[in-house]
Amino acid sequence: MQTRADRFPIRNTQLLDTDPQIWNWAQNDRLGTKEQVKRPNDEAQLQALVTAHPGNIAIMGSRLSSGDLLHAEKRDTMLIDASALTGLVASTPDTVTFGAATPLHEVYATLTGMERMLPSSPGVIALQTLAGAIATGTHGQGLGQSSIADEVQRMRLVLADGSILEIDRQHPWFGAAQLALGTLGILTEVTLKTIPLAIFTCFKNATDDADLESTLVEWNETFAMSKAWWFPEDHLVHVWRAREATPDEALAYQHNNRETLSLSSGDNSMNSTVERTLVHMQHDIQGAKGDKPFKTVERFKNFTDITGDIYQIYCRGIATPQINIEIGIPLRRAGQVIEKIKQWYAETHPHMHYPVILRCTGPSDAWLSPAGQEATCFFGFVVYYAADGTLSKDGVCFLNTVEKLLAEQGGRPHWGKYFDPELYHWPDIYPQWQQFREVRTALDPAGKFANAFSTALFR
Ligand SMILES: Cc1cc2nc3c(=O)[nH]c(=O)nc-3n(C[C@H](O)[C@H](O)[C@H](O)COP(=O)(O)OP(=O)(O)OC[C@H]3O[C@@H](n4cnc5c(N)ncnc54)[C@H](O)[C@@H]3O)c2cc1C
Repeated sequence: MQTRADRFPIRNTQLLDTDPQIWNWAQNDRLGTKEQVKRPNDEAQLQALVTAHPGNIAIMGSRLSSGDLLHAEKRDTMLIDASALTGLVASTPDTVTFGAATPLHEVYATLTGMERMLPSSPGVIALQTLAGAIATGTHGQGLGQSSIADEVQRMRLVLADGSILEIDRQHPWFGAAQLALGTLGILTEVTLKTIPLAIFTCFKNATDDADLESTLVEWNETFAMSKAWWFPEDHLVHVWRAREATPDEALAYQHNNRETLSLSSGDNSMNSTVERTLVHMQHDIQGAKGDKPFKTVERFKNFTDITGDIYQIYCRGIATPQINIEIGIPLRRAGQVIEKIKQWYAETHPHMHYPVILRCTGPSDAWLSPAGQEATCFFGFVVYYAADGTLSKDGVCFLNTVEKLLAEQGGRPHWGKYFDPELYHWPDIYPQWQQFREVRTALDPAGKFANAFSTALFR
């Protein structure tokens, strides 16, 4: 198992095309060498590669995760690049089947063109592959839905012996396959539930954090989708709450050529907080206003209510290399955890350069989902990389301390972000941990899809 220092490494900002190593997206972790990578053209070629390969196999999507799950540390490990398995394969009135490596932005654009959407709301970016997002429990916000994996109806996997497993919701192991961290097999096709494309109006405001313990729940229970950014230093919360647009709002949006429509004049009540946050960021990461990390905060200035489709409203993030820790806490206990964070903040005034991101989802069916079995509030903490690839010491110290605090509260970390495995006793926080291990042993008895990280995780 890696040490804490290894998990927040410096970025390689000088990467050349001639570099023999293959890196993760953030360029802070080497996964293996380019020689280890195989890119099959189709499922049959993939099956042949898996059958013939005697060593371990790791599977890459867009490589946005920390890298732990993707390491091909042994030189004879084959790194599968499944990027040829993309595009719409089939559709019915209420489902779509995509090649598993289709990037989410392509999934969303295709669905929008069909006047459909996924019932699950999107995350902030859409660079992820469908398979990578499903395999790690990638999610958005809203208690009436959960992760993208929860919309899966059927999956096709290439197993360790090269055979195909088709698995649907009736299969007793479906909950294991839904979020499997690439350890059960290689996803080649995914069938997802769809619903008619809806237009939403999102109301934005800034409010103090005095009653955040209860208002967070209220926002989520009253609106289809809510997201909040909490600035403890200023006792301020920036809140987005979206409901389906009224017929008049939807018509105005249509008349705006289906471009996002602003409904109000700019509200400047976040502006001074944003300016203070930019000073912290400037101190930590240098760079100039207008650089990507700064833009992520500057957008809170002069905010307006908007009407748009689900992707236009919630999937507008700026992908910026960062260390991102996100911990799920059952919603019924989120208020207690907010209180703890307030207390800790008042006592220690930890250094933060980005607000705490609060997103709640409904329960997930996936056995290893941090939102498994109950409505969950995800607490997100971000530290951006400086232009020279370093991280501020204060920022790292903040992340270490806050993760410990939430782990002590029974928190479950997002699998596709950063976390310290030593802080969690997995069988205690995942009731179906042992069943997952049994499925893994049944489908991959020799541990072909294992690497050092997953071996230690499921030991
Ligand atoms: C800037 C940024 C923003 C983010 N925003 C959000 C967000 O809003 N919400 C959220 O929940 N998460 C978010 N994430 C986390 C992100 O969604 C996950 O890291 C996700 O796994 C990335 O998908 P990927 O295609 O890059 O997968 P990778 O990182 O390449 O792989 C992740 C896992 O999926 C497995 N995998 C990949 N392809 C296959 C396959 N074909 N078959 C089987 N297993 C496979 C891999 O083996 C690995 O275990 C964000 C991350 C970043 C860096």
